[in-house]
Amino acid sequence: MSTTSSARLMDGTAHARRLVDETAVRAAGITRRTGTRPCLATVLVGEDPASVTYVRMKQARCEKAGIASRHIELPATTTTDELVAALEGLSRDPDVHGILLQHPVGPHIDERAAFEAIAPEKDVDGVTVSSFATMSFGLPGFVSCTPGGIMRLLDAYEVDPAGKRAVVVGRSAILGKPAGMLLLARNATVTYCHSYTTDLSSAVREADILVAAVGRPRFIKGEDIKPGAVVIDAGYNPGNVGDVDFDSAVTRAGLITPVPGGVGPMTIAVLLAQTVDAAERLLGLA
Ligand code: NAP
Repeated sequence: MSTTSSARLMDGTAHARRLVDETAVRAAGITRRTGTRPCLATVLVGEDPASVTYVRMKQARCEKAGIASRHIELPATTTTDELVAALEGLSRDPDVHGILLQHPVGPHIDERAAFEAIAPEKDVDGVTVSSFATMSFGLPGFVSCTPGGIMRLLDAYEVDPAGKRAVVVGRSAILGKPAGMLLLARNATVTYCHSYTTDLSSAVREADILVAAVGRPRFIKGEDIKPGAVVIDAGYNPGNVGDVDFDSAVTRAGLITPVPGGVGPMTIAVLLAQTVDAAERLLGLA
C-alpha cells in the first residue's frame, strides 16, 4: 500500500494581510501625529501590460493601507538621463517617503544608473547598492522586498534557518543573491545554484530550505526535493506558474509556498511596511 503525504501550505496571502493590517495601523498613527500621510511614489516607463498591472496593484494596496501614492508615467522613449532626473526629483521631494521604479525598464536605459538615483533613505524596494550593502552588513536599511517577504514567511511558520542547508536557485541582485545572504545572516549553510551549476539535482536534493528563483516554469521537480524540506517558490511565470513543479513537490516537501498566494503577496506587503519605516525615519519618529 502506498501513502502519499502532502506538504503544509505556507499561506502568503494571509500573512501578507496581517502585515498590511499592522502597516495600516502604523500609517494611521503617523498621519495622526504629523498630519502627513506616508507616501510611495511609483515610476513606470512605457506601457508593458504586466508592469502596468503590478504598479496598479501596488497603488491599490497603498490606498488600503492609508499610504498615499504618487504615480509618474514616462513614455517608452525616456532616456536614462530623463529617468534619473525624475528619480532625483522624487528623492529631493519632502512629501515623498518611498520610491519604487517598476522594472525591468527598457533595454536602452541604464537600469543601474536609474536605481542609484533613488535616495537610499527612500529606497523602500531595496534596489540600490547602498541597500544591498546595509543588508550584507546587517545594518539598518531596506531589504529587497521579495527576499524580505521570504524571510518573514519563514518566521511566520517558525522555520529557523540556523544550521540548515539552504539552497537558492538563482542569483539575481534583487532576489536570489539577497535571499541567500539573508539566510546566511540567520546562520544557514547556503549554496547558490545558477545557469553554470553542474548537477543541479544533487545540490537541490541537499536542501532543507529551497528557494527557487529561476524564472522557468515548473523547473524544480518533486523527485529532487528532500523529504520534509521547506520549499519557497519565488518564481512567477506566465499562467500563474511557479518555478517549482508544485504537484510533484507537494508530495515530498514539509512546507511549500503555492503560486499564486505564497511569496507574491508578501513582496507587496514588505514594500508597504518599508514605506512606513521610511516615513517614520524621515519624519523623525523613529
Ligand atoms: P533573473 O534575473 O532572470 O535571474 C534568474 C536566475 O536563475 C539567474 O541567476 C540565472 O542564472 C538562474 N538560472 C536561469 N536558468 C537556469 C538554469 N537552467 N539552471 C540554474 N539556474 C538558472 O530572474 P529574477 O528577477 O531573479 O526572478 C526569478 C523568478 O522570480 C521569476 O519567475 C520572477 O518572475 C520571479 N519574481 C517574483 C517576484 C515576486 O514578487 N513573487 C519578484 C521578483 C521576481 P545566471 O545568473 O547564471 O544567469
